[in-house]
Amino acid sequence: MGRREEMIKKATEIMHDPTRIHNIGIAAHIDHGKTTLSDNLLAGAGMMSEELAGKQLVLDFDEQEQARGITINAASVSMVHELEGKEYLINLIDTPGHVDFGGDVTRAMRAVDGCVIVVCAVEGAMPQTETVVRQALKEKVKPVLFINKVDRLINELQVTPKQMQERFIKIIKNVNELIRKMAPKELKDEWQVKVEDGSVAFGSAYYNWAISIPFMKKSGITFNDIYNYCKNNDQKSLAKKAPLHRVLLNMVIRHLPNAVTAQNYRIPHIWHGDPESKIGKAMVSTDENGPLTLMITKITTDPHAGDIAAGRVFSGRIRKGDMVKVIGQPGLERVQQVGFFVGQERVPVDEVVAGNIAAVTGIKSAVAGSTVSSDENMEPFEKIVHYSDPVITKAIEAKHMKDLPKLVDVLRQIAKEDPSIEVTINQETGEHLISGMGELHLEVTEYKIEHYKGVEIKSSPPIVVYRESVSAQGGPFEGKSPNKHNKFYIEVEPLEPEVIDKIKSGEIDIGTRIKDKKGLAKILQDAGMNKEEAKGVYAIEGMNLLTNVSKGVQYLFETRELIIEAFREAMNRAPLTEEPVYGVKVKLVDAKLHEDSIHRGPAQVIPAVRSAIYGAMLEAKPIILEPKQKVFIDVPMDLMGAVNRELMQRRAEILDMEQTGDMTRIIGKAPVAEMFGFSSAIRSVTGGRVLWSTENAGFEPLPKELEAEVIEKVRTRKGLNPKPPTIDKYRS
Ligand code: GDP
Repeated sequence: MGRREEMIKKATEIMHDPTRIHNIGIAAHIDHGKTTLSDNLLAGAGMMSEELAGKQLVLDFDEQEQARGITINAASVSMVHELEGKEYLINLIDTPGHVDFGGDVTRAMRAVDGCVIVVCAVEGAMPQTETVVRQALKEKVKPVLFINKVDRLINELQVTPKQMQERFIKIIKNVNELIRKMAPKELKDEWQVKVEDGSVAFGSAYYNWAISIPFMKKSGITFNDIYNYCKNNDQKSLAKKAPLHRVLLNMVIRHLPNAVTAQNYRIPHIWHGDPESKIGKAMVSTDENGPLTLMITKITTDPHAGDIAAGRVFSGRIRKGDMVKVIGQPGLERVQQVGFFVGQERVPVDEVVAGNIAAVTGIKSAVAGSTVSSDENMEPFEKIVHYSDPVITKAIEAKHMKDLPKLVDVLRQIAKEDPSIEVTINQETGEHLISGMGELHLEVTEYKIEHYKGVEIKSSPPIVVYRESVSAQGGPFEGKSPNKHNKFYIEVEPLEPEVIDKIKSGEIDIGTRIKDKKGLAKILQDAGMNKEEAKGVYAIEGMNLLTNVSKGVQYLFETRELIIEAFREAMNRAPLTEEPVYGVKVKLVDAKLHEDSIHRGPAQVIPAVRSAIYGAMLEAKPIILEPKQKVFIDVPMDLMGAVNRELMQRRAEILDMEQTGDMTRIIGKAPVAEMFGFSSAIRSVTGGRVLWSTENAGFEPLPKELEAEVIEKVRTRKGLNPKPPTIDKYRS
């Protein structure tokens, strides 16, 4: 049997014993060595495919540098590792750590039980270390620490052995402070990392060695030895005596929980269904004979197999040919192929069972974050995202005409991989829109398209997305059909903020099909809406609601669908800017309809209802809403003035200031439109000495004095008459 076959055999054997499976991730600040570490762990554990591993041996470091990055695009890689006569399967799942768009990291963290925090010995813990560690701890993921790039400390920084140890102590202290600050209460002490017990290791991912106190004791290697190996330029010998993969994987097996132990305490934390239900019990006990539950963490594309959804099986088994449900999507889907990761290879197998990572094809509607189950009524791991508000749009097109069809595919792919990106494809013009959560989010997405997907693109400068709303009551406004035989009377007013909150949180289903009318009416009444309006709901579109409060209108039911259609159109295109409408309640108060259905078709009803909605909105003191961002900036004292000045120029308000050590954290809020270029501006006024991040803070009214200018700008961009319509346009 070849080595590859042997590994596959071992891995498939261990698959059925989840007490020997460890699902882990790596949390690191950019450039601290996550990729190097993953690649070298894999190579060291002998799990690189023979061809690659063979090459690895003969490559010098420069060539290796080029060949590296094997793991960066994999959803998961796995290693078999032996400790004290027992073999274990370690799945290293890709957890995006670098740029934090909340969702991605959280989802990936939910699928792992432990993580290796990688901190560069030279730089120490950095802001992104803090962000990913926070995400991990929030999901009850247990940490261990690897202090990387120790070779640089010795060879470049020329520290003494004593200084080296002092640095380690400082880093460990910092990480433990983070853990103390962010871990769930009952675990703050238990999860502290300690040099003595081997939950901390030191080494060089690049030069392939690592050391921990237990390993030092066993092997007799001392800190001084390490120092000398580095100084004498003989890290190769060190790598033979203290191989990176051995020390790290030992640490993982000893200190990070196996799948069974972890699911027992993590399931109640990451899943909010009933723990006493059949599904709940199966997940808590990692039962491979229970119902199937699978959480998708990543979608990748294979030129042959198409979309591959990879994720963690928490209970039951997934088999070829199974019919499964993607929670929140209609119907059942058939599993075509089931794969299992051995090394970085995806090996086809008949089934993957609880505790493991599976790669599945055929589940077309799955996106990163989806919950897949054999039980159609399973409570999903994550609230299904009903509503995300992208705040920035860019128009992009392929640089080369020949790439046009490929770009369309790539964009569809991107939308699946990252549910917070919205893609609008225009097949006719070839100009496509991508909308996202911020300037950086779109930059990262463009980078992905060019570098991972290989399509060169041109993009427009970013454009802010606005919303339109009303600030008063408007109507009843009459809308007459072109043939004058039908009349609709519409009133509008601001939708209750409590109702908006409930739509945002997913408690109220959006869409034009109201499934549970009674249930919805109750939720709406609890949120403060009057009974009549709550009972008459026709449709919810975005953050807007259409309700019928008319009485005794003949033939109304037959035109209902057309009224809803007109409402949807109007909500997606507001009267002043043609941007989407936000937070408006539309009430149909009366109508007069022609008795003959021939005279009340779509061409009659839709324009009439739309005009009535627009007219009523223009009577209701319309307002423009702009997206805002919270800005978090860490500044040293001497730069406070410069940073404050920069913020003030951007219509920002300061919400809070906190002192942490010698830094001040400024928390402010500013319009997204004013934040363009903030990155380079702040760098130039501070010489790059501040760290900052942003978070979306929803839509807020644009100051009155800016309204006319923004309306004109948006209309001009869309090729509309720069002057918005007046109410007369809609008077019949
Ligand atoms: P990532 O951004 O966290 O994935 O970090 P990478 O693995 O890409 O590493 C960033 C850079 O640091 C690369 O140029 C690596 O070659 C280098 N690097 C990583 N680990 C070490 C190490 O232990 N010693 C040295 N000297 N360089 C390292």
